[in-house]
Amino acid sequence: MKYYSLNKQSSPVDFKDATILGQAPDKGLYFPETIPQKDKAWIDSIEQLNDEDIAFDVIKPYIGSTIPDEKLSSIVKETLSFPIPLVQLNKQISSLELFHGPTLAFKDIGARFMSRCLGYFLSGESKKVTVLVATSGDTGGAVANGFLGVEGVEVVILYPSGKVSPVQEKQLTSLGKNIKALEVDGSFDDCQQLVKQAFADEALRRDVFLTSANSINVARWLPQQFYYFLAWKQWKDKHNPPVISVPSGNFGNICAGILANASGLPVKHFIAACNANDVVTNYLQTGEYKTRTAVPTLSNAMDVGNPSNFVRILEIFHQQLPELKNKLSSYSISDEETTKTITEVYNKYNYLADPHGAVGFLALERYLNEHEDLKGFFLETAHPVKFPDAVQTATGKPVAMPASLQALMSEKKKSLFIKPDYDHLKHILRG
Ligand SMILES: *Cc1c(COP(=O)(O)O)cnc(C)c1O
Repeated sequence: MKYYSLNKQSSPVDFKDATILGQAPDKGLYFPETIPQKDKAWIDSIEQLNDEDIAFDVIKPYIGSTIPDEKLSSIVKETLSFPIPLVQLNKQISSLELFHGPTLAFKDIGARFMSRCLGYFLSGESKKVTVLVATSGDTGGAVANGFLGVEGVEVVILYPSGKVSPVQEKQLTSLGKNIKALEVDGSFDDCQQLVKQAFADEALRRDVFLTSANSINVARWLPQQFYYFLAWKQWKDKHNPPVISVPSGNFGNICAGILANASGLPVKHFIAACNANDVVTNYLQTGEYKTRTAVPTLSNAMDVGNPSNFVRILEIFHQQLPELKNKLSSYSISDEETTKTITEVYNKYNYLADPHGAVGFLALERYLNEHEDLKGFFLETAHPVKFPDAVQTATGKPVAMPASLQALMSEKKKSLFIKPDYDHLKHILRG
């Protein structure tokens, strides 16, 4: 399998090079040259397969011969070392819980898969790679945890001081070893700006091999298909495929679902569940794609004003808006509605949703109200304990902390406090 750049100015590469480079030299996102097809017999027999075999069969065509089967099997196994249950809330709506991984958010799956692939590609090479990321919260923890102890990889994470939740901060800063956390005296945009400057600094990049670990990397994006297939395995009404609602920010997660569907997975319809950052909701309504500066919301992992993966979704639909609208709807949910939904879901179904899941729930409910014969699920992308203030405001009760987190919270924070100053960052990156 080869991957081409969506900007069409760089040559196609294999999975290994796409993973190491992250983004094509022409700044385009990589996209697979063909979308592998799952045959009907495989789809129909999915309940007989175990989770690891399902994931292996899904990802294998994308990897080609860049990773031997035995190694790929063990990477898949380590990626899926926690449950991904589909929990029914009412007659029409279920929740696909993606928060049972080590950092309690869905990004664990992509980050674990990517870190192990990169570790494999670098083993036996003298080259050291520095993974550089800015995080507004969840990405940093998942990346730090995924890459901890991976040989040949140094991780540098920038996060805005005082603007991530206490759990998120501990997940970023308590690991040490090959993980360096930089606490930036500024906003997420400042962090992002510093990272962009480093990637644009050719002199630095001659000396330090930089790569990114966000969802534009194919090794993080593609394994996100796994849980859509694993949900189908658990879906009871196989004659009535699900409507799937995905809380969306950078649109990597939903794009993986749409890719899975394009390769044969039965899905009735997709809902892009957005907060006040409604670029895509507006685009589907008006046909005009207007990016904006992100506005802060309760579901802050989705505060994105220019979703980078949307170009991949357009590519799957050959840039045809009518075809896209047949498969995808979008709703923009306000903070007020988010809080109200957390309260209602808790009171009616005794189910605790986090703000992102609540956005997913309400968007799905709106769609299903107009399509009463259908059923569906939303992706519960984070554990409510990662957003304790918003959840407590909605339910009036503090969120109980899982045992695994209690230990984490007593760990020592190891971070370096810096001003948003590029020269300082450069100095750190040069070691
Ligand atoms: C990252 C994140 C999202 C958004 O996912 P995208 O792939 O960027 O659309 C949603 N919910 C949570 C909890 C996240 O961490």
